[in-house]
Amino acid sequence: MTSETSRFGFETRAIHAGQEPDPRTGAVIVPIYQTSTYAQDGVGGTREGDYEYSRTANPTRTALEQQLASLEGARHGLAFASGMAASDAVLRSVLRPGDHLVLGNDAYGGTFRLIDKVLSNWGIQYTVADLSDIDAVRAAVRPETKLVWCETPSNPLLGIADIPALAGVAHAANARLVVDNTFATPYLQTPLELGADVVVHSTTKYLGGHSDVVGGAVLTNEDELREQLFFLRNGAGAVPGAFDAWLTLRGIKTLAVRMERHCDNAERVAEALAAHPKVAEVYYPGLETHPGHEVAAKQMRRFGGMVSFRHADGEQAALDVAARTELFILAESLGGIESLIEHPGRMTHASVAGSMLQVPEDLLRLSIGIEDGRDLVEDLRTALG
Ligand SMILES: *Cc1c(COP(=O)(O)O)cnc(C)c1O
Repeated sequence: MTSETSRFGFETRAIHAGQEPDPRTGAVIVPIYQTSTYAQDGVGGTREGDYEYSRTANPTRTALEQQLASLEGARHGLAFASGMAASDAVLRSVLRPGDHLVLGNDAYGGTFRLIDKVLSNWGIQYTVADLSDIDAVRAAVRPETKLVWCETPSNPLLGIADIPALAGVAHAANARLVVDNTFATPYLQTPLELGADVVVHSTTKYLGGHSDVVGGAVLTNEDELREQLFFLRNGAGAVPGAFDAWLTLRGIKTLAVRMERHCDNAERVAEALAAHPKVAEVYYPGLETHPGHEVAAKQMRRFGGMVSFRHADGEQAALDVAARTELFILAESLGGIESLIEHPGRMTHASVAGSMLQVPEDLLRLSIGIEDGRDLVEDLRTALG
């Protein structure tokens, strides 16, 4: 099945797209092509489509790229060594000195750090805006704006941005809309079909799904942009190894069933937290009280597995909860089968302290795993005391 075969359902494409039985051996599962180089027919004799060197291309990675492209409904998929490497490739392929981008006010801390601390040295300018406010985004756009960079749901406050509306603003300014689709995954939301130009992923999270591999990906329908991204990746070298590509490929096969369970458990946890006296506020787009609920319901299949909340008694009380949970492991990252808890202010988002992206001190972020949801609720109740 090629990546463009869209007559099959999501679950079918996750298991078959790019994953024909191995042409030489018939191996049903794509092998780990653990090789750096490939024999050539003669000097300069490689045929179009053949492999030469694994920085440029590797068959296990190709399978992953076709699988990802199929799931996002994209013509092209490129796998990277990490989500940040994927984001960096998009930023450096599109932006030139003097260019400007608009970035959400609760963007992933690492994305903000890359733009603020690294790309700014090359004359890239940015404006931070509340992406749930379309007028604010329109006001942030300048003649030099080339990108609007969006995460929805966002990290860690689960803000929701209206993808078609943002695409409208970006395109009216001759800019591209990039959506970091890490939190939603293509199972819950397909931004290219909603008008976005580029999708980036940290495949480290839900796509890999088992907290055992770091990776990233870029998806687009634009042929020329794909060539630029491919050139930069080959030139700069931020490629995933064959085993990492294989682990991600394997993880994605079960994405649909995992996401359903993540969503079931997250809904259950969000409702329990919303009713708890020690909880000041719950951020989950599935709750009708969430300001982005209606937009999320329009563009997402369900509401995802991430839940954040504020402790009513302040930062120390929040830190105590994070130290007391038994099943929720205190750790950064998200999207794995196991539940995690973290304090964004001191952990994942420490790098945005003092900036416009600063997060509340009493905030805790949960990555809801696929354990028995009753156990998860009980663990939080006990930790909240
Ligand atoms: C983790 C994450 C990234 C960065 O990905 P890495 O694989 O850690 O490099 C980017 N965006 C979001 C939303 C993330 O959660």
